Amino acid sequence: MTTTGRHYLAIPGPSVIPDRVLNAMHRASPDIYSGELHQIVPGIYEDLKKLARTKHHVAIYVANGHGAWEAANTNMFSPGDHALALVTGRFGEGWAQSVEALGVTVDRLDFGKQAAVDPEAVAEALEADTGGRIKVVLMSHVDTTTSVRNDVATVRAALDRVGHPALLAVDCIASLGCDVFEMDLWGVDVMVSASQKGMMTPPGLGFVWMNEKARQASIGSRWRTPYWDWMPRVDPTVFYRLFGGTAPTHHLFGLRAALDMLVREEGVEAAWRRHERLARAVWTAFDTWGEGEGGTRTGIGLNIADPSSRSHAVTTVKFVAPHATKLRKWTQANAGVTLGIGLGMAPDGDPAGDGYLRIAHMGHVNTHMTLGVLGAIEAGMSALDIPHGPDALSRAAAVLAS
Ligand SMILES: *Cc1c(COP(=O)(O)O)cnc(C)c1O
Repeated sequence: MTTTGRHYLAIPGPSVIPDRVLNAMHRASPDIYSGELHQIVPGIYEDLKKLARTKHHVAIYVANGHGAWEAANTNMFSPGDHALALVTGRFGEGWAQSVEALGVTVDRLDFGKQAAVDPEAVAEALEADTGGRIKVVLMSHVDTTTSVRNDVATVRAALDRVGHPALLAVDCIASLGCDVFEMDLWGVDVMVSASQKGMMTPPGLGFVWMNEKARQASIGSRWRTPYWDWMPRVDPTVFYRLFGGTAPTHHLFGLRAALDMLVREEGVEAAWRRHERLARAVWTAFDTWGEGEGGTRTGIGLNIADPSSRSHAVTTVKFVAPHATKLRKWTQANAGVTLGIGLGMAPDGDPAGDGYLRIAHMGHVNTHMTLGVLGAIEAGMSALDIPHGPDALSRAAAVLAS
């Protein structure tokens, strides 16, 4: 590992933490009964709702993304219920399994590792559910393993067309604050996220947003337990019930600083545009590296072919195995850049897995960081004699200049 300069952890969570967030956390423990902590919480709730584009409710948990899944699950389900999971990568499968563990029967529509959810297939599956057994449709907005971005609004439209009453629950753990997401406009009933990706705060806070329909539907859920119950957590004026125990004091100070930056200063829409530009630069570089001499291909390419189904938060790329793993090791040892592993793209232990890596461009990222990552990758490919097409960096720079 290089010891000079600042190391860049370009993995899809935890993401880069701004110094402002770190500094906000670096302080003595506050009074938890009154004072500043109580004063900042209502504003945090307000900004979390702005970030999700909802006027409804949000609950905060001391948890990571897996905990946020379980928080949503226990409020939505009772043992013996049915769910439909739309799977586009390992995280979609992970959520399905966490629901199954509660004694819920989960039907899966698996769209593979290189394509988005097909809303027609969803409509068909719901139409076949003539008894209305499916209680919730689960999906990832972005599946961080494949870097696919699903079109949530078209899934809502499929539910509406068929007239199916199931709730629509969406995992935005990777995408929130990065990819365009409109909870109320798109008719999302439940949404989960976590602090350590687009929200630029250390891992440790999980969030569940729910609309009034989902909150009402949860009243009869027999899985609701004292800690995970979202009911006491949604009203920020009843402070002692908000966190099911001691408040996550320092995380709240960090989150306040992160929301200042993201929601109050830059603005959610500007953050979406920034992420789109950075993502396009990354795609351009990989498209160019993929082009060999005289129309041949180098074996380097983006996992998701259709640009409209690509996330703006993370990009999964394919190399000829084992070049991706060698390149990751090289950039970490020599360039001060840690890239993401290719997660779930090949069975565990299969050498084909060494053909994938991921680049995060989520959260506290800008032009020079993105060009720096791309430059480090190109240096690594040169050092390791990995064939790659020319001019990728200047083309990526041109995208960022526009
Ligand atoms: C990161 C991530 C998770 C898991 O979050 P943890 O905090 O690691 O538990 C789940 N879903 C998606 C889409 C993610 O990106």
